Amino acid sequence: MKTKQIIKKARGFTQPYRVEKGRHFRLKDIDPGDTMGFGDEARPQAQELLARGIPLLAELQDRLYAHNQWGLLLIFQAMDAAGKDGAIKHVMSGVNPQGCRVSSFKTPTPAELDHDYLWRCAQALPARGQIGIFNRSYYEDVLVVRVHPELLARQKIPPALVTKHIWKERFEDIRAFERYLGRNGVVVCKFFLHVSKQEQKRRFLERINNPEKNWKFSANDAAEREHWNDYQQAYEDMIRHTATPEAPWHVVPADNKWFTRVVVAAAIIETLAALDLKYPEVGRTKLKELAAAKAALVK
Ligand code: ATP
Ligand code: MG
Repeated sequence: MKTKQIIKKARGFTQPYRVEKGRHFRLKDIDPGDTMGFGDEARPQAQELLARGIPLLAELQDRLYAHNQWGLLLIFQAMDAAGKDGAIKHVMSGVNPQGCRVSSFKTPTPAELDHDYLWRCAQALPARGQIGIFNRSYYEDVLVVRVHPELLARQKIPPALVTKHIWKERFEDIRAFERYLGRNGVVVCKFFLHVSKQEQKRRFLERINNPEKNWKFSANDAAEREHWNDYQQAYEDMIRHTATPEAPWHVVPADNKWFTRVVVAAAIIETLAALDLKYPEVGRTKLKELAAAKAALVK
């Protein structure tokens, strides 16, 4: 498969799940179990795309690095056990670790709570030429914090500033922040791994029943499950307000891990390919330098 073909196929995989304008977005329009009609017999075909896509991704990253102008920020959000970690691990398996950094955002520390909620994420933004991956992000501040208002109280915001408009204001600030990043050469690409409640239950049970997976389970995960509907609403509202053409959301069906990985890889390939980066050409002085170095080496 030629590069152009892979990129074209990649587009086919992302198009149904890409949300650039969220106003009318409804979560229930995307089935977590969807595999675009790829039944088990067609699965190898989809996986072939992943196998070919990973080296291409590595090449695109290499060009990003060589250019040293653009940065790429990949944001992953999901309910527990939706497969964020696995997707990040598989999709990025071919890329050069020097050009890539994963940051995980957990319950904020006291030092983090002493700052605005974007602060900790701003420090982890990718430099030019780099890919930054956020495993959770500032979006937690309109998700878990919205579902659990007591967390908002811990954020030490002056009470006069906490009004019923707070979520709308946060969406507005996040849109502005992402627009700012875009205008500075940081391309933002966001993923919501959309898992069903039944599949989450199956994965939790597997974590409990399989001793090698016990470490992955926390009682808190099960407690959060009780708030399933509130989370789904918060996710839907978040996508509605923060999906933009510059920083689109990809709502990726996550009940089948192999399919999730294909769609995620496809979206990253598509995003990097759209930058149309060629290896930088060197000027005449540099060419002379190279010729001189070559002459010296072969002598
Ligand atoms: P895993 O898939 O391994 O469970 P994880 O991303 O769920 O990975 P955990 O350490 O289990 O990692 O959970 C991190 C927790 O931190 C999540 O429950 C998340 O909601 C919470 N968290 C992240 N950001 C914030 C925030 N700003 N305020 C409050 N809680 C937060
Ligand atoms: Mg967890």
